[in-house]
Amino acid sequence: MEAPELLSLNKFNVDEQEPHIVIDQEICITCGKKPCLYICPARLYRLDKNEQISFDYAGCLECGTCRVLCQKKGILKWVYPRGTFGISFRYG
Ligand code: SF4
Repeated sequence: MEAPELLSLNKFNVDEQEPHIVIDQEICITCGKKPCLYICPARLYRLDKNEQISFDYAGCLECGTCRVLCQKKGILKWVYPRGTFGISFRYG
């Protein structure tokens, strides 16, 4: 199986009440390279038509890459989702 197929096997229970990742748009807009656009394996960071970062934590693989590589500390909060929420990895 290819990676997209394998990823599609995963199950998500999104915590709609409490996001586990929160970003600060005011900081992100000052970031030149915006590495989050390229390093997130789930491609959850995108640029909107106003050149602002658009981010949705639903679909997060909880890998922590964005937290490590964010250069401007635009990620205000990064924690694992509360119990029973988040991703359940399925390996086929
Ligand atoms: S933790 Fe990983 S999958 Fe989740 S938003 Fe950050 S880079 Fe993307």
